[in-house]
Amino acid sequence: MQVIEKVQALRQYLSECRQDSIALVPTMGCLHAGHVSLIRKAKRLADVVVVSLYVNPMQFGEGEDFEQYPRTFEEDVTICEAEGVDVLFHPANLYADDGVNIGLHVHEMDAVLCGASRVGHFDGVVTVVNMLFNIVQPNLAIFGEKDWQQLTILRRMVADLHMPITVVGSALIREDDGLAMSSRNRYLTDLEREKALFLSQILQKMQALAAQGESKQYILAMGLAYLQAADIELDYLEIRHEHSLRLSKDMPALGDRIFVAATIGKTRLIDNMPLLKILENVA
Ligand code: AMP
Repeated sequence: MQVIEKVQALRQYLSECRQDSIALVPTMGCLHAGHVSLIRKAKRLADVVVVSLYVNPMQFGEGEDFEQYPRTFEEDVTICEAEGVDVLFHPANLYADDGVNIGLHVHEMDAVLCGASRVGHFDGVVTVVNMLFNIVQPNLAIFGEKDWQQLTILRRMVADLHMPITVVGSALIREDDGLAMSSRNRYLTDLEREKALFLSQILQKMQALAAQGESKQYILAMGLAYLQAADIELDYLEIRHEHSLRLSKDMPALGDRIFVAATIGKTRLIDNMPLLKILENVA
């Protein structure tokens, strides 16, 4: 495996591989089994796998955890090597020395869910992913369903901007007890870790209510009451359409997805699940 830090060196390396298909897996490092599942999917789908590791300052808001974000470079190298990654791209900085002059902006789709509370976050995401796409020029790029809104926005980005790149989604990987894997889980104390488990549990309870034929209004009310009783600092708990991210009312339907975000201690966690579990693979 090559570890490459400079854009020019990466371009040089990839110029020899253009006959092959190239998959890009963008990450911020501190790799866990969720990232590994993306890498394995990339290996199944393409000849050459590039993993990028870059903690992107533009997607962190003021007061967020950019400085504290866990950086575990040596372990990440070991994991990528063991998974047969071809190139680990680890740039020191992707932005111009005088900051961000030119960037992309997300309309409408970032006014909801995480975009509403993390203003500018998705502008940072699309800008850096666009840079990575320009540098690597992959045939496909893999993103996790853990960050559902991000995946949806990136799908729109390649469609709206006519990029010749296929965005591939990859299933959300959980700990054995159901907690969605996240690099930020390592911030949690034992007590906070127990509390964090409520998030996936509430989504499962809401799925069960949907399976019993309850209305979305009732399901949401029950979910909110449960989280309130657990004393969780909720950002949002919403049921939205999984492609448009729009709210819809009445009875659960195919395409409805439950989204939750909460701060446990100082750690912001997110999770999502389809509302109708049994119909998950029907589409
Ligand atoms: P991050 O390093 O957190 O920016 O994540 C890099 C990529 O890994 C993104 O596409 C995430 O959606 C994906 N990812 C992170 N956690 C998980 C998980 N638990 N399951 C599946 N994909 C994940």
